[in-house]
Amino acid sequence: MPDLFAEAARLLAGARRIAAFTGAGISAESGIPTYRGEGGLWMDYDPDKYANIDYFREDPSYYWRFFRDVRYDKLVGSRPNRAHEALAELETKGLVSDVITQNIDGLHQAAGSTRVIELHGNTRVIQCLKCSAEYGYEEIRKLVETELPPLCRACGGILKPKVVFFGEALPEEAIAAATEASSGCDVFLVVGSSLVVYPAAWFPILAKKRHASLVIINVGETGLDELADVRIDEKATVAFDRIMPLL
Ligand code: NAD
Repeated sequence: MPDLFAEAARLLAGARRIAAFTGAGISAESGIPTYRGEGGLWMDYDPDKYANIDYFREDPSYYWRFFRDVRYDKLVGSRPNRAHEALAELETKGLVSDVITQNIDGLHQAAGSTRVIELHGNTRVIQCLKCSAEYGYEEIRKLVETELPPLCRACGGILKPKVVFFGEALPEEAIAAATEASSGCDVFLVVGSSLVVYPAAWFPILAKKRHASLVIINVGETGLDELADVRIDEKATVAFDRIMPLL
């Protein structure tokens, strides 16, 4: 049996430039539920309704009810875990150049990573779809106690968090930065993503095409397991606890 942790550490330690790529799984141990996998949100919430732009336009209260009852407390109360911290430490060591994340929770920045590319935006800013006025998280939390969906104070428009819903395009700047990071790295490190959400999952494919090694740390199978040079089926914190002392 090869020692997968030692093999991952060998690739990471020898890298010139590592691009890290994270998904909901890295934040699971911070208490934020994933979409897929055991305990994933989609066991309780309909994926065709929640976070889908067409449905959101039709019935925004579905999303805002979820925000009020589930999302807000989980996100506000969450703290980075040892996996977020390990990626920040790898940046300090000069190994990780960028963290490309699908997450919207801001936990990489809270852990100290400074080069974070947010492919799907950040949930703490809420914007009016009509006049683009912006609102803070706490303000809207108060509003949804009495108003579902919450409406723009300036124009009465529908409010939406500044995150990318299914059916929406990714921010161009983030795509350009992630393309640069993926094509310029020699190791691409995936942590906690099922790698089934596109276009985000193109980045590991791009890195492989440019001859980077692919290391995947994820509980359960991913859509790109067959491309991995090292595949660790383990919780992110457990994996980093084994890998970091070897670097
Ligand atoms: P996903 O839910 O599709 O996959 C998460 C994967 O992580 C699953 O395969 C799961 O088995 C695995 N996992 C669970 N716990 C883990 C752990 N402790 N360590 C390692 N792996 C673990 O998530 P995704 O690939 O990021 O894609 C779905 C979308 O989910 C993204 O667009 C993202 O914006 C959104 N999302 C974000 C958050 C967040 O910001 N924290 C939370 C839920 C969903």
